[in-house]
Amino acid sequence: MSDTLFAKIIRREIPAAIVYEDDDVLAFRDIQPQAPVHVLFVPKRAVPTLNDLGPADGGLVGQLVLAAAAYAKREGFAEAGYRTVINCNGDGGQSVFHIHLHLLAGRQMGWPPG
Ligand code: 5GP
Repeated sequence: MSDTLFAKIIRREIPAAIVYEDDDVLAFRDIQPQAPVHVLFVPKRAVPTLNDLGPADGGLVGQLVLAAAAYAKREGFAEAGYRTVINCNGDGGQSVFHIHLHLLAGRQMGWPPG
């Protein structure tokens, strides 16, 4: 496993407010939340960016989306709505190079994003 910040969180070397875990995915609260709910869904298998995904990785991305949607339903804000975002590289605003899906909720989201 590569040694990003998120790899250290997955290995429990750095603390995080974990809200969900299964065999393949860990989800924890963003340390700098951009909405009342801001959770990061991270695959335990490290892939740096969306550009590094191959044809066999559809399941990995699907698991992040499904875990986020299930969390929204469990937490009761699925009907009100939410936003999911995967940033990629510099122009996308990615700062941690271990793929992750942001789940943002609890306020009206603007469009287009800044
Ligand atoms: P990115 O910019 O790569 O799409 O998202 C990285 C996210 O990780 C940012 O929203 C940032 O606030 C969050 N983050 C950075 N350092 C930490 C940390 O130590 N703990 C947690 N929980 N989140 C972090």
